[in-house]
Amino acid sequence: MHLRFTPLRRGDLIAACCALVLLTGERTPHAQVPADLVLINGSVLTVDNRDSVAQAVAITGGRITAVGTTDQIKTRIGSVTEVIDLRGRAVTPGLIDSHVHFSEADALFTVDLGDASIKTIAEAQKRVADYVARLKPGEWVRGRGWDEGKYAEQRYLTAADLDAVAPNNPVWLTHTTGHYGVANTYAMKMAEVRKDTKDPPAGTIDRSADGSPTGVMKESAMGLVSRLVPPLTRDQQKLGLVKIIKDFNQEGMTGAKDPGIGQAKWELYQELLREGRLTVRVFALWSGARRLEDRAAVLARAQANPRQAGLAGDGMLISGGVKMYMDGSGGARTAWMHDDWNKNLTDTDTGNAGYPSTPPEEYRQIVTELHHAGVHVSTHAIGDRAIDWVIDTYDRALEAKPTRGLRHGLIHGNIPTDRAIDTMARLQRDHDAAYPDASSTFMWWIGDNYAGNFGRVRNQRLDPFKTFTRKGVQWGGGSDYPVTPFPGRYGLWAAVARETLNGTFGATPFGTAESVDIKTALRSYTIWAAKTMFLEDRIGSIEVDKDADLAVWDRNPYEVATAALKDMRCELTLVRGKVVYRGASR
Ligand SMILES: [Zn+2]
Repeated sequence: MHLRFTPLRRGDLIAACCALVLLTGERTPHAQVPADLVLINGSVLTVDNRDSVAQAVAITGGRITAVGTTDQIKTRIGSVTEVIDLRGRAVTPGLIDSHVHFSEADALFTVDLGDASIKTIAEAQKRVADYVARLKPGEWVRGRGWDEGKYAEQRYLTAADLDAVAPNNPVWLTHTTGHYGVANTYAMKMAEVRKDTKDPPAGTIDRSADGSPTGVMKESAMGLVSRLVPPLTRDQQKLGLVKIIKDFNQEGMTGAKDPGIGQAKWELYQELLREGRLTVRVFALWSGARRLEDRAAVLARAQANPRQAGLAGDGMLISGGVKMYMDGSGGARTAWMHDDWNKNLTDTDTGNAGYPSTPPEEYRQIVTELHHAGVHVSTHAIGDRAIDWVIDTYDRALEAKPTRGLRHGLIHGNIPTDRAIDTMARLQRDHDAAYPDASSTFMWWIGDNYAGNFGRVRNQRLDPFKTFTRKGVQWGGGSDYPVTPFPGRYGLWAAVARETLNGTFGATPFGTAESVDIKTALRSYTIWAAKTMFLEDRIGSIEVDKDADLAVWDRNPYEVATAALKDMRCELTLVRGKVVYRGASR
């Protein structure tokens, strides 16, 4: 155990009037100002460079002013100091979700099929039927979260399944991955999707043997139906944000990276910030171009909201850069692979190696232009071929214009080749770029589906976190909610356990050779994730001068059995030293 006690504050050092202090290293006289808040008698998992564990923390003005033993921190207690006795509880930095579609509006206002208790098609049908009962004929049924990998039948929901319970309403239900969805016949009629309708570019209309649409639409084909569904109102969107902020805080979570926002959501974030209700730090990426002709508009929007503006403020809301797409999903077998997809673990989906969702050369040109303009880019890439293309694009752009610290990101990066991992390690070292926002919970929540599709051999290479650490690749952990549940404890557990939800192909079809220990997993949800938000000087570890974004837990994640990580309960959450969640036991 390393204990440390550092009374010197960085704020003192950088103040112009204290230049002499910087030169002489002299202790400042006001270092012993009583703390606003101290937490004592606990295990403080600092996630500093040595993963030190302390006993206590002092906080003043929203910042951490001392970390050390309880005796050391007690000297900071004054007449107005709030004292929290941790009674042996563990404290971690607030958890950060490095990839989350940050809203619960869909969970609040649509049919929620993302419930593991739904184990058959009939049970999914019943959820839809219950919802339809509340509607008038002709009103839309929106829903999300279904997953054939969780159904006993192991097959897609189809239009026929939905027609049986909703003959008089249009229905559109997106899959848990968000990369495909299913419409009923009513909705397909409205969308004019018929047997003779051709697949749109970068999309697939799923068909039965005779060529008629089954109701399932993949990737860009989803737009044929989804564009007809009325959007949620601004008030519903705001309620969805307020709810997820509260639920994040309840899970000890204090940071989120939201990929793919537009102007309306940006304005909602700003409104919540003004109202003092944004108690999760948000790093937002603007939805990027999928075609060359859109790139000027995307660049203009990113440049109108430069990242530095967010950093100069309190680091609560950051316009981070641009999100791009390279491919689809491992669930839909649309992600772009070097070799054909498998199905049911050992069969081959012959002739289907997925496809790029943005034309590769156009992708390369758009990213190169964004890079040259100094804009951060993060790209969704799941398949090994897509990842190679993305990482090579970053490599070339950085070679043409070396720029340190743009930190271009790789979203998901599920199955990188060895060459891609080596390149990421080099780009991180030489250019501070190419950081994965990895998705450990895919192995769990959609892991049964994934295992069947990637197949026995490739499964072992999925989410190669151990190899990352061996080669010096840092990554952020993320849920991709609503693709998987967002509590960070699930992601911590999944990175260690690599177990699927239902064990359809065995409990650990991805093997455990690429498991990491909890200390590494915690880094990916704290200091490394903070780095991908450009906030590692401010948050992500419990060190003097950092903002006090902290979570108190009912157990010590460094000490409990792996299975117990999943059920960790948060008791208290602080953001910039303010209590944003307090459990009943506190
Ligand atoms: Zn996503």
